[in-house]
Amino acid sequence: MTEQNDQVVRQLVEKVLQHVESGWGGRVSPTTGKGASKPVTSAGYVPASAGSAAPATATNRLGQFTNVDDAVAAAKTAQRALVHRSLAQREAACEIIRQICRDQAAELGRMEFAETKIGYEPHKVLKLTVAADCAMGTKDLKTRCFSGDHGITLEEAGPWGVIGAITPVTHSLPTLAVNAVNMIAAGNSLVCNPHPAGKKIAAYGAMLFNKAIHEKLGIDNLVCVITEPTLESANQIFSHPDVSLLVVTGGPGVVAAALRSGKRAICAGPGNPPVVVDASADLDNAARCIIEGATFDNNLLCLAEKEVFVVSEVFDQMMDAMARAGAYRLTAQQTDKLAGICIATSSSGGIPHAVKEYVGADPQALAKAIGVSVPAGCRLLYGETNSSSPLVQGEQMTSVLPFVRCDSFEQAVDFAVEAEHGFRHTSIIHSRLVDHMTYMGKAMNTTLFVKNGPSLAGNGGGGEGYGTFSIACTTGEGITTPMTFTRFRRCTMVDNLRII
Ligand code: NAD
Repeated sequence: MTEQNDQVVRQLVEKVLQHVESGWGGRVSPTTGKGASKPVTSAGYVPASAGSAAPATATNRLGQFTNVDDAVAAAKTAQRALVHRSLAQREAACEIIRQICRDQAAELGRMEFAETKIGYEPHKVLKLTVAADCAMGTKDLKTRCFSGDHGITLEEAGPWGVIGAITPVTHSLPTLAVNAVNMIAAGNSLVCNPHPAGKKIAAYGAMLFNKAIHEKLGIDNLVCVITEPTLESANQIFSHPDVSLLVVTGGPGVVAAALRSGKRAICAGPGNPPVVVDASADLDNAARCIIEGATFDNNLLCLAEKEVFVVSEVFDQMMDAMARAGAYRLTAQQTDKLAGICIATSSSGGIPHAVKEYVGADPQALAKAIGVSVPAGCRLLYGETNSSSPLVQGEQMTSVLPFVRCDSFEQAVDFAVEAEHGFRHTSIIHSRLVDHMTYMGKAMNTTLFVKNGPSLAGNGGGGEGYGTFSIACTTGEGITTPMTFTRFRRCTMVDNLRII
């Protein structure tokens, strides 16, 4: 990027930050204006097709759309251009997205926090650098080959085309960014319907991505965003004939809707990850790990520790270890009072759910709601309750962790299985006994199973392996990578090309 362009982008960022801080001045996005089907007119934007050797598919929309048909048409044009480019060019587009997340993490994280108003601002920033580091790119693509008397057959991992993506409020831009890298690496474009409460940061991030990709490769609209997302626009994406694959990241409602659509859907659905602590565990390490996982972005991560089952032999020592590690202990009465405030049960029954007002809240705000004052530096509340508490059964996504005293290890695992509700998402054990690890791993049947570490380790954060913000626990693809967004195509040469 030239110095002049660099300055233009910086000016744009400043301008958009001013809009975020002033409620965006009633505008839809920094680039298009409400309802626009017009080209981008943002002051300072310089279309960069001039001087580029690559054939341009410029429309100057930079992925900003209010209308699903327009967005899908633009994404289709972009994807057709992409399939004629080299793998190195695909990788260049991926690296542009990673680089923007890395270089602008502080501004973008601050903007996401200002808009969504949930979680912990420093972790919003960290999530963008994690997004940059964990998004795999083209190196994940694998070709299978068969050779024999009848010639050679190749099976190549090809793109689907235009992918419809639904993203959550809990990590709006990080989910879009990692999905975009993984999908583009596989040769796709995408149309994203973000959560309405995270739509501005999604649209702004997409604008930055598209602008820089267009400057480098002459392709606009690889990452399209519906700037005024609604349930109706989501349904239009679900039923659009030119959308080949759906990828949804969110709770049970959106997963059910995507699975009803009749299209192939990759679903990264809800979780309620239980932790089991047995008598052999290193309790101080367990406490540090539980706090690290559960406090990340005020427990907004789907894979984060949501309830803890401890065998009675070491229950009191474990509660003391949590206090030593910096968490604030509530009485059992205060814990149940908080459960009544931050978890709701629907009149028709079913799994209790988090009350929106307390999702991603600081411990200080939670404590205040029950008339308790906690020190400013405290990052987590915890307290004893029973396994049927709504705080145990519901995915609370906030800064309080319920602890349950269990008669035996087997009972702890039974309680954990019940609290996980068959989401097959994540479970965690703290133990030195491999028999216990194996027993619980089989019983839980979760996509991620972490032993003696924070939940984040299962997603590449402090453990081996890569990571994502879309863990397809519901439909079984697991931690999504570029290969997740490919379809196998076979190419056969009969009786020839075998040179041995
Ligand atoms: P949410 O379900 O309220 O919303 C997620 C997205 O789905 C949003 O864009 C929303 O607008 C859309 N949506 C909701 N209902 C819909 C419907 N009926 N039709 C079409 N679109 C619909 O969830 P959230 O609060 O944004 O995110 C938190 C939830 O997402 C938690 O349950 C969490 O576990 C889950 N999550 C899972 C993963 C994963 O990788 N498995 C990652 C992040 C979040």
